[in-house]
Amino acid sequence: MMQVFMPLNFLGFVYREMKGAMTNIENMFAILDVTPRIVDQGGATELKVGDGEIVFRDVHFGYGDDREIISGVDFTVPSKKKVAIVGSSGAGKSTLFKLLFRFYDPASGDISIDGQSIRNVSQASLRGSIGVVPQDTVLFNTSIFENVRYGRIDATDEEVREAIRLAYLSDFIASLPKGEATMVGERGLKLSGGEKQRVSIARALLKHPPIMVFDEATSSLDSHSEKIILKAIREISHQQTTLVIAHRLSTIMDADRIIVLDKGRVAEQGGHAELLTKGGLYAHLWEVQQHEQAAPAGKMD
Ligand code: ATP
Repeated sequence: MMQVFMPLNFLGFVYREMKGAMTNIENMFAILDVTPRIVDQGGATELKVGDGEIVFRDVHFGYGDDREIISGVDFTVPSKKKVAIVGSSGAGKSTLFKLLFRFYDPASGDISIDGQSIRNVSQASLRGSIGVVPQDTVLFNTSIFENVRYGRIDATDEEVREAIRLAYLSDFIASLPKGEATMVGERGLKLSGGEKQRVSIARALLKHPPIMVFDEATSSLDSHSEKIILKAIREISHQQTTLVIAHRLSTIMDADRIIVLDKGRVAEQGGHAELLTKGGLYAHLWEVQQHEQAAPAGKMD
């Protein structure tokens, strides 16, 4: 299925994860990024996701004892709504994602999904319920079609094609001489950042988890790719609870709620228009980005 170009123990890990929790491949790489230090509690239950409401309640966290990175964060991601987290570089956006995946536990406070504290559920069931579209998608040395299938390895060819269509990848694939059989990844065609992110979106659509997490690419995509990706994210967020880390405010104007993070605290939250009227931090960030738009790097950090 996959040509060997990675260490065998690593592949063993991947296969075990796939067979076990059917975790999205993206999750596995995220998992591998950090040393596992959290273990399931004795008697951990399986997370049962119904509506998919996520609640952060008075969450405090620091990577070491010396510096608190997240300081009393409270917010809710309502079921099937799209919530965006914005804030300048180092505000703690990615840290909130790591806490949601339980790569770390908060020092105090709680994170729950549909009323179940994530501390009390198995990590496999937690990560199996969340799909991730990371900033940089890992591609395997196989065809683009099989790369999409990693979202759900037992998906039928028709399901894979439907995900490709919904992620607006069909035209791109049709333009390749070998079409869906085109090899990508390490020894194949190199995809652009936007194309890779669409592969990741297609995987997520195939997996169809109740909760989706997007980490918007920090590097600017060209405006055509960005528009396509936004359309694909919109498709997903109508059906699933969606949390987005956004670097460009223009991409999340339609979010149901925007959480503005500043030095690990929620400085303000609300809809785009509401936050602009307030004239606070969001309005300031918006103004800065409007000025930057003329320059090529129109993003916050
Ligand atoms: P960016 O937009 O630049 O990605 P961010 O808002 O996502 O930033 P985080 O990555 O959450 O910010 O980082 C918040 C703070 O935590 C930063 O000061 C960072 O240096 C620190 N930090 C992040 N990861 C670690 C780690 N593994 N160990 C120690 N400190 C860390």
